[in-house]
Amino acid sequence: MSVLIFLDQSEGHIKKNSLEAASYGAKVAEMLNTTAEGIVLGTIKDELAGLGKYGLKKIHTVKNEVLNNFDDAVFTYIMAEAAKNIDAKVIIFSNNFNGRAIAPRLSVRLKAGLVSGALALPDLSNGFVVKKNVFSGKAFANVSIKSDIKIISLNANAYKITEGEGTAETVELNVDIPQAKVKVKEVNKVLGEVPLSEAEIVVSGGRGLKGPENWQIVTDLAKALGAATSCSRPVSDSDWRPHHEHVGQTGLTISPNLYIAIGISGAIQHLAGVNRSKTIVVINKDPEAPFFKAADYGIVGDAFEVVPKITEAIKKLNGAQH
Ligand SMILES: Cc1cc2nc3c(=O)[nH]c(=O)nc-3n(C[C@H](O)[C@H](O)[C@H](O)COP(=O)(O)OP(=O)(O)OC[C@H]3O[C@@H](n4cnc5c(N)ncnc54)[C@H](O)[C@@H]3O)c2cc1C
Repeated sequence: MSVLIFLDQSEGHIKKNSLEAASYGAKVAEMLNTTAEGIVLGTIKDELAGLGKYGLKKIHTVKNEVLNNFDDAVFTYIMAEAAKNIDAKVIIFSNNFNGRAIAPRLSVRLKAGLVSGALALPDLSNGFVVKKNVFSGKAFANVSIKSDIKIISLNANAYKITEGEGTAETVELNVDIPQAKVKVKEVNKVLGEVPLSEAEIVVSGGRGLKGPENWQIVTDLAKALGAATSCSRPVSDSDWRPHHEHVGQTGLTISPNLYIAIGISGAIQHLAGVNRSKTIVVINKDPEAPFFKAADYGIVGDAFEVVPKITEAIKKLNGAQH
């Protein structure tokens, strides 16, 4: 038996979240006294043997360019075949769009228990118990998986990437690729900006900014920091900003190193999308705004006064460094 880790890729490069999943999977394998193996679907530009340093012994590949476009049914089929082929008893995904699409389908197909959004390593002292968030991060649950095969999707930033020594053996997995029922005709990308889901720094604006004409203070700060921009839901609902910038329970879930929230109250539905950020900075004129409870740093003040000053200070600092 082994632990199988799904390694998500984008344009041929392994995503950062997958390195967290690989490190986590390697530790789970060590706890179960077995080996951790990765799987990558599609054509890949990265050198895969190097993934051995995250604890993976083997990387299974299915190098067909059809798989460069994500298709949940096709990917689920291949993951099920791979799991049977290598006798995987624990299967790990990142809890991102792709992981959330495949893991439940695979769980049904393999009759495997699933914990989605795991926060920590399983506790093996009394079965196989995994901690996760519930109620949009307001509470925790410890979920016991009793099935023979167990599936976990790991929250971003829940487990540190751990690097050691070692190289992984790469093997091509011999599997039929089913015909996709959905045909991708074109892919439109948001160009010229830092992609929100991958950004290390995100500057976000809420209804406190009063209108789209005031967004310049958000974009100026983002530009100075090399950050992506996002917004709360009412902002995109009012068409002040495009919908792809909306973060929260019904929008994107992001986990940057730094999230700066400007004029956002911090409703639970907003926090659900950003509370995995490493450091949260809140700028709000109301000292009672709920967001301050989730913040690492807070500034009580008028965004229209505070934000331009921060931008100027960062520009000066950037200038001093060049
Ligand atoms: C089912 C459901 C799903 C939802 N999903 C989402 C979601 O995915 N994402 C999301 O964001 N919301 C979501 N919401 C909406 C959510 O409940 C809140 O209504 C929303 O997040 C509030 O947005 P906001 O903080 O921008 O606006 P507000 O709540 O109006 O807050 C504005 C804040 O700006 C501050 N402010 C005002 N002027 C200034 C100033 N000059 N300087 C500094 N601060 C100032 C105010 O003190 C206030 O705290 C959802 C709601 C429901 C019911």
